[in-house]
Amino acid sequence: MKIETIRHSLAHILAAAVQELYPGTKFGIGPAIENGFYYDFALPSEALAKEGLSLSDLPKIEQKMREIIKKSVNFKKKNISRNEAKKLFKDQPYKLELIDELSSISPPTIYETGNFVDLCKGPHLKSTKEINPDSFKLTKIAGAYWRGSERNPMLTRIYGVAFKTKKELDNHLKVEAEAEKRDQRVLGQKLELFSFDEEVGAGLPLWHPKGAILRKTIEDYLYEELTSQEYQWIVSPHIGKLDLWKTSGHWELYRENMYSPIKIDNEEYMLKPMNCPFHVKIYKTKIRSYKELPVKYAELGTVYRYEKSGVLHGLVRVRGFTQDDAHIWCLPEQLSIELTKLLKHGFKILKTFGFKDYDIYLSTRPEKYAGTLKGWEKATNVLKYVLEKLKLKYQIDSGGGVFYGPKIDIKIKDSLGRPWQCTTIQVDFNLPEKFNMNYIAKNGQKQRPIMIHRALIGSIERFIGVLIEHYSGSFPLWLSPVQVWAIPVGSRHEKYGKTIKEQLSDEGIRVELKDEN
Ligand SMILES: [Zn+2]
Ligand SMILES: [Zn+2]
Repeated sequence: MKIETIRHSLAHILAAAVQELYPGTKFGIGPAIENGFYYDFALPSEALAKEGLSLSDLPKIEQKMREIIKKSVNFKKKNISRNEAKKLFKDQPYKLELIDELSSISPPTIYETGNFVDLCKGPHLKSTKEINPDSFKLTKIAGAYWRGSERNPMLTRIYGVAFKTKKELDNHLKVEAEAEKRDQRVLGQKLELFSFDEEVGAGLPLWHPKGAILRKTIEDYLYEELTSQEYQWIVSPHIGKLDLWKTSGHWELYRENMYSPIKIDNEEYMLKPMNCPFHVKIYKTKIRSYKELPVKYAELGTVYRYEKSGVLHGLVRVRGFTQDDAHIWCLPEQLSIELTKLLKHGFKILKTFGFKDYDIYLSTRPEKYAGTLKGWEKATNVLKYVLEKLKLKYQIDSGGGVFYGPKIDIKIKDSLGRPWQCTTIQVDFNLPEKFNMNYIAKNGQKQRPIMIHRALIGSIERFIGVLIEHYSGSFPLWLSPVQVWAIPVGSRHEKYGKTIKEQLSDEGIRVELKDEN
């Protein structure tokens, strides 16, 4: 049975336990999430009037859940009419709201777990006896607006984690505890790398001197690596006219990630969510011959994407970030060669930063897409071919592609075994079409180049966030913002300490003189 089904079933059991312990609770929703589940409750006022729920209440609720599990209660599914549902949930305002929104083609289904009845389309386990009572744990309590909107009441959300075995649970809890000690938000401040400021705005990091030098070290390394691979460096503006984003398709298919237009002289401009259209424009400034291809343009391009304030998370999720972005335009017969080079180069770079374990995904056509089905199929097949030729193990992320093409994503695994999305390599038959890009082929005819979008480390911000946690703040020497301390043993050695500092500095070594008492 699927772990998601166990997790979702545990959410119902959590609700059943809360119903028993706090009669009169109103129920929101309770889905399975990554590693576990949650359920949203509006607790009855008597329970809240005291002091609300606190972490110390969780063991009691967990205990109740175990009691329910051990009773081997069945999950019973029933189809009912909308009217019956309304009667059944007459004291449950949130459920009534959900019933009203159900489409007429899908009548309500309910699940009974002992005395607890939930509006739910399932699926669920047959019985609570399929759950190991020792392989879940309630972990957190948080406030959550009903359906994520500030206009709605604030509910109490209880989170839990759950796995198939106790061993997996223990391992997860161990990793979480270790991760907490290495939290990039805490270490970033302690190491004086970066900070956030409410008056500046959420998700907009301020880089301090030590953080900036770490960044610069990474950028310099990338600059050298990419130059050696025959990339050419370019720079593009942070805003561009709305029309540009209409041509590129971003306005139609990517708008929810973009900020509102900026008015300049009665024309509308957008903060760039991607660098691609600018790079395309530079390609198009002259006639290209097949002899020039592949053309490779690289930019450390800072882009701005809308993220809900609730998901912002230190450097790992921000609203403005710098991509190690590049675009490659090549001949059709060069595509698999270029993709192979890219993957190999990507792995080399990741290894230099200390990442040796990966999960590789091939992401296919999403619901909203540009271009033709045939184009998508062709691009997806080339990506598959390259992965297989390199004998790389990969999984299919069905529907996970970007709107303009399929992609290969590489998730690196950090020292705690946690996966982080990092490298992305995307084939695009669409933008060249939209911007009418050409090269002159051998036969003198105009042809469309194939476009590859790729970022190897992804976002520099996010990558540094991952590096901080991967190394627990103790960076390898080449990345460390301070590489050497010169420590005078006594005050009479201070002068010599200064000499040492100057000599090392002259050699390009990042050194600090520790001459405090
Ligand atoms: Zn359910
Ligand atoms: Zn791009």
